[in-house]
Amino acid sequence: MAQPIPGNTRLDGLKGFTKALVARLQKLGIFNVQGLLLHMPLRYVDETRISAIRDLRSGEQAQVQGEIVHAEVQYRPRKALICRLRDESGQISLRFLHFYPSQVASLKVGTHVRVFGEVRGGFFGWEMVHPQYRAVAEDEPVQEALTPVYPTTSGLTQASLRKGISWALAHADLAETLPEEIYHRLNLPGFAASLHSLHHPPPNADLYSLQERNSLAWRRLAFDELLAQQLSMRQHYARRRQQGAPAFKPSRQLITGLLRSLPFALTSAQQKVAMEICRDLEQAHPMQRLLQGDVGSGKTIVAAMAALQAIENGWQSAIMAPTEILAEQHYRKMQSWLEPLGIRVAWLAGSQGRKERRVMLDSIASGESQLVIGTHALFQDQVQFFRLGLAIVDEQHRFGVQQRLSLRQKGVQPHQLMMSATPIPRTLSMSYFADLDVSVIDELPPGRTPVVTRLVSDARRDEVLERVREACMQGRQAYWVCPLIEESEALQLQTVMETYGILQTSFPDLRVDLVHGRMKAAEKQAVMAAFSGGETQLLVATTVIEVGVDVPNASLMVIEHAERMGLSQLHQLRGRVGRGAEKSSCILLYQDGKLSETARARLKIIYESSDGFAIAKADLALRGPGEFMGIRQSGVPMLRIADLERDADLLEAAMAIAEQLLQQPSQAAAVHLQRWLGHAEELVKV
Ligand code: ADP
Ligand code: MG
Repeated sequence: MAQPIPGNTRLDGLKGFTKALVARLQKLGIFNVQGLLLHMPLRYVDETRISAIRDLRSGEQAQVQGEIVHAEVQYRPRKALICRLRDESGQISLRFLHFYPSQVASLKVGTHVRVFGEVRGGFFGWEMVHPQYRAVAEDEPVQEALTPVYPTTSGLTQASLRKGISWALAHADLAETLPEEIYHRLNLPGFAASLHSLHHPPPNADLYSLQERNSLAWRRLAFDELLAQQLSMRQHYARRRQQGAPAFKPSRQLITGLLRSLPFALTSAQQKVAMEICRDLEQAHPMQRLLQGDVGSGKTIVAAMAALQAIENGWQSAIMAPTEILAEQHYRKMQSWLEPLGIRVAWLAGSQGRKERRVMLDSIASGESQLVIGTHALFQDQVQFFRLGLAIVDEQHRFGVQQRLSLRQKGVQPHQLMMSATPIPRTLSMSYFADLDVSVIDELPPGRTPVVTRLVSDARRDEVLERVREACMQGRQAYWVCPLIEESEALQLQTVMETYGILQTSFPDLRVDLVHGRMKAAEKQAVMAAFSGGETQLLVATTVIEVGVDVPNASLMVIEHAERMGLSQLHQLRGRVGRGAEKSSCILLYQDGKLSETARARLKIIYESSDGFAIAKADLALRGPGEFMGIRQSGVPMLRIADLERDADLLEAAMAIAEQLLQQPSQAAAVHLQRWLGHAEELVKV
């Protein structure tokens, strides 16, 4: 046999791969021979049997065969080619809404055809819309095995995909990338055998386990994919770890001073994570840690402690927040905590006046300001730090990778602490976050009463207004949140303005205020200051208040159009109340007749659970890892075969084996990565 073709051979230039074909394959993310090999079936169809038309059931995928007894092109109600196919047991209609003249010719009366498609009970009996079909001899044998169906793109037929993949299976290098002993231990079959059996299932293959992707062959590929992801993430981790960073001795004075001034004691969870961070900062390589803790778990104080450790060692710290409101709030909080200790805090935001900004920039460059707080304005080129030793990113999932990276470039590889209030389910943090160390605050400060959540139909708005009035009359404060309407910011603005107007007229005796993303920073600040100072009773807001805002006296929140919001977002919003000792509630208003299945499922979850962790898990299950926390844009290799829940055991195994492989001076890891991620080299360079 000829030499096998290396997997990384590009398709252009190979015999049989025309320019047009190569271009279409590239659309599917297939660039080379192994890309073709690893383009896996979406599902399988059973063309091994021919059903009698009489035995068909509505909704099933079936193959029937017979003679065309009638064919006509109809023009009403719309143009369609309608044929009737007859076998010994009955008749079925075939309907084509898009068709070529050649199809009309090939489906002439008297032709013997075999068709495959979904059976529907139409007005005139059984019907298939756009079935696959081909003319056959009456005694043409059926397929011996299940037929794979691949994800494809327009202009690329299943037949040509199958042909290309079969060619690759026959000619490509399918050698194992890892010592076989590893797979024996895990009871997984070989690579070549697995690929063959998934692209060309044997005649006795079980359709169910193929579809569910839990057959051994699927598990083998899932493992390989998970292993590649682990290897890539752990390599990044190791590479960054090799870089130097300033080592900070534990703080002796500043942290003690801060803790002494607080009206509360740290929870033991806060102490635990603060210790983990302190240990990291003592190292001479950059910290790469993710601090996660549910909304209200008290991450800010932990961040302040980390900043103080850097500052006490003579370095600057920066805290980056995703919104100006949050940056501003952090600024005030840090000022109140740290200025008594003699620390200078600076702040930077996009909308700052030129003069103020100049002053801030100078004090950052001279080192006079030891802590700098800001939005992504912190990255701009004009911002020069004196010496940045620690970069803290709050609500990290709100930032793109690019923004996080540019902060890293600002200093001499500063230590990095990312914080996130979206609790990350364990399998997710083991896979997509495997390039970070993770600390978890798994306990809320004492004395919080859980938020009572109520689902109220929009029809009962009046009762809700009454509740708001009562709460405010009793000296408490409330939020009224209007949702982000994805399609149109202008529309959102209009909605929130209208709501504001209505609420103002409904409550002539209350001070009602408005905050939204389009306001000038100074206006937003003034509104937020009035609300946190207790002067305003009711704050009408867009989702700009979603993250981080902390006004403990606010104990009631009304969320309009809750059915339009994602689970994590609802949980974040709800976390704005229940921050004081007062019993808090959150009212989710929904439009009754317009609830979709998923919206109903979301509302049920948020109603039943206040555990951010359980909510995140449900959110992940509803949306998948790509949408959940925007991993899709993050540059992390996406999983296409493995499923974190179904293949959790394989993930554990992949982690252990990746560690083991990276310890050994062998080529196996590189070869394995090349096979699995070679097509996405640009993605790997996070
Ligand atoms: P998040 O983790 O959502 O960022 P914050 O850091 O904003 O939470 O903390 C929420 C509130 O809890 C703040 O008002 C903060 O001062 C307070 N807090 C933090 N830690 C404690 C604690 N150990 N005991 C009591 N209150 C605390
Ligand atoms: Mg926070």
